[in-house]
Amino acid sequence: MKKTLEDLDFNNKKVLVRCDFNVPLISGEISDDNRIIQALPTIKYLIEHKAKIVLCSHLGKVKNEEDKLDKSLIVVAQRLRELLNQDVIFINETRGFKLEKGINNLKEGQVLLFENTRFEPLETKNDPELAQYWGSLVDLFVLDAFGSSHRAHASTTGVSKYVKDSCVGLLIEKELAILGKALSNPRRPLVAVIGGAKVSEKIGVIDNLLKIADKIIIGGGMAYTFLKAQGYEIGISLCEDDKVALAQEYLTKAGDKLVLPLDSVCATTFSNDGFVGTFSNEIMKEDLMGLDIGPLSIDCFKAILKDAHTVIWNGPMGVFEMDNYAKGTEAICECIANLKDATTIVGGGDSAAAAKKFGYTDKFTHVSTGGGASLEFMEGKKLPGIESIANK
Ligand code: AMP
Repeated sequence: MKKTLEDLDFNNKKVLVRCDFNVPLISGEISDDNRIIQALPTIKYLIEHKAKIVLCSHLGKVKNEEDKLDKSLIVVAQRLRELLNQDVIFINETRGFKLEKGINNLKEGQVLLFENTRFEPLETKNDPELAQYWGSLVDLFVLDAFGSSHRAHASTTGVSKYVKDSCVGLLIEKELAILGKALSNPRRPLVAVIGGAKVSEKIGVIDNLLKIADKIIIGGGMAYTFLKAQGYEIGISLCEDDKVALAQEYLTKAGDKLVLPLDSVCATTFSNDGFVGTFSNEIMKEDLMGLDIGPLSIDCFKAILKDAHTVIWNGPMGVFEMDNYAKGTEAICECIANLKDATTIVGGGDSAAAAKKFGYTDKFTHVSTGGGASLEFMEGKKLPGIESIANK
């Protein structure tokens, strides 16, 4: 068990908190502040416990100097001020005198945020010198960036070695408790709904969930590799030919545990205008691509979901970004969200975006803040950031 906030004394201590402030920006404005909101409980806890709080995070991908122009965390500092209703000191540097002075001048309960950790080119290399430098600025380290905890970077994994003590924050504690229980001791039946584009990205999850779940429903683009393995015509639908044999292996191994779509909403081109109609697996044509699950599949998946007591959903059922192919994802999202006696979990990423688009976010038990991280957790992998934190 990893240490949590309750295990450390924060009074008058300088505390570095690695948050996940990797928020979406449109024309320089934050378009969704959910990640900032999710970080507030830990920050408020530390304010109440009289810590001197130093926040850090990455924002986007930074490959060159030009990328830095629109990746400053200054917009996050502004939003944090509004949400916390107190000042947040922003230091537009990632190291040096200004940062060190800012931290050393902090009073109990004050909050400072420094610039995007990825402005340091060696952050993503988990550079020990950089981790040691950030560690040297504080007494304690709190990791609360669940969405980045699967990355072995200096600010997520490296820094904990160079502080007196470390723990996970409230967001990570919540994510681990809910995802952990769903995978280790779920209320059954446990039904997993896996979709999205690529079999290769979800194969680890399917592999692990085959050992745990009672049913695995597969939809989205990745279903066509499985349908091809079953011998169906899939036309020009998405297919990973080098994964057909593996899909065949899983189908044999899993028996009726794996459930595939019965029909598809098809198009001639990957566009909303390419829409043609709905085709069952048996009458699919060679010049069509399946871009959503059809009504027979929706009914079949809903019949399985209605008895579930735990549902894990990861990946859309179709190209939900285009109106003609959004119905399958919306129907399954609505069905899961409205289950009365079930723990319902959305595994972040595109499914979280879909739940938001269709207005069901608040109806799920939990919407994970980590796409890649929750995927790796569901694969049964250890997350290096969390591994680096001190044990109880
Ligand atoms: P992933 O990142 O693997 O979860 O994939 C999400 C993406 O898969 C979304 O952007 C969807 O538009 C896309 N997707 C879902 N179903 C299909 C499909 N049948 N064909 C092509 N792309 C799809």
